[in-house]
Amino acid sequence: MLFTHLRDQLQRLESEGLLRVRKMMAGPHDSHVKLDGRDFVSFCSNDYLGLASHPALVAAVREGAELYGVGAGASHLVSGHNIAHHSVEEKLAKFVGQPQALLFSTGYMANLGVVTVLSGRDGVLFGDRLNHASLNDAALLSRAKLRRYPHLDIQALAKLLAASPNNRKLVLSDAVFSMDGDIAPVPELLALCERHNAWLLLDDAHGFGVLGAQGRGVLSHCNVSSPRIIYMATLGKAAGVFGAFVAGEKEIVETLMQRSRSYIYTTATPPLLAHALLKSLDLICAEDLRRTHLANLIARFNNCLRLERWRLLPSQTPIQPLIIGENRMALKVGAALAEMGILVPAIRPPSVPPGTARLRISLSATHTAEDVERLANALHELERTV
Ligand SMILES: *Cc1c(COP(=O)(O)O)cnc(C)c1O
Repeated sequence: MLFTHLRDQLQRLESEGLLRVRKMMAGPHDSHVKLDGRDFVSFCSNDYLGLASHPALVAAVREGAELYGVGAGASHLVSGHNIAHHSVEEKLAKFVGQPQALLFSTGYMANLGVVTVLSGRDGVLFGDRLNHASLNDAALLSRAKLRRYPHLDIQALAKLLAASPNNRKLVLSDAVFSMDGDIAPVPELLALCERHNAWLLLDDAHGFGVLGAQGRGVLSHCNVSSPRIIYMATLGKAAGVFGAFVAGEKEIVETLMQRSRSYIYTTATPPLLAHALLKSLDLICAEDLRRTHLANLIARFNNCLRLERWRLLPSQTPIQPLIIGENRMALKVGAALAEMGILVPAIRPPSVPPGTARLRISLSATHTAEDVERLANALHELERTV
């Protein structure tokens, strides 16, 4: 009986074109990969700057292992907090222009931590409809009411805020939307939060390292700063390593450290990763060339793609979503690209709204202009033939 239920569920996923299958990568992460003995160019990853297998980071991990061993051995508040964690927190805070920062093991956990601590059963949350799943899950865990507003709809958010008498308001937004690639209107969000005395949590998972001067992220990109902003970014995407951090006013960071269960009740990240992150930050900061090259690739892709049936969403970030529509068609196009040696993930509900299955093309500084042209040409051909 129990198994029948699971089998039926899996069967249903299969018949709706929603069953997920994992690709098994064998070597280091790169935009040129070998899979089952064949060469592919991959447009799948969030490694926007191409740091995930950078020799300097590999060396830093080795050095970190020599200095600190492998495991942290305990949670941060017990004895797992190491000078490498401490140094990277200081460096991160400075880099994003915030008074203080706190490392979390993952971005998912960072969002759970901030939302549950700053809001509670008696708070109200306001979130963009296309926010990342971790922000929505955080809202559920906090037990606060979550009011969702249509994607980027500032007017709708203004109405919701004005209608709420609650004095513990927290607005949640992706800074760069992970499946659409567009950038949140941060100055407008901040102005609304100021008017209605709300906190603003910005999840910059896809902007950190990519946007702003030297890759300092969305706050630098939008030239905003405010004590009511809680800035969160992940370190497993452009930074090429693993983990996440939250930065903001001292009282916020101190409160998170004291009260966030997703910070307290988990083993500290291996210090060797914190050590590698110090190096990663140096590279992010120093190598503007990577961002310039990436910007050129984004422009080139947008200039050379001419499609009729499928629609490329407007995006200035490395996330370039191509809307196909139907789940099976998205899978079919993805499979046809793979036949041509090009990997692009087909993203289906529930990661995106029903009817908007898409190819989530993500560009990286490790791509060449030829890679991007090859992808565009393949899409031109498939639009006529699939
Ligand atoms: C990837 C991502 C997260 C989760 O970060 P992890 O460190 O991978 O857990 C959170 N928010 C957004 C917008 C993301 O894209």
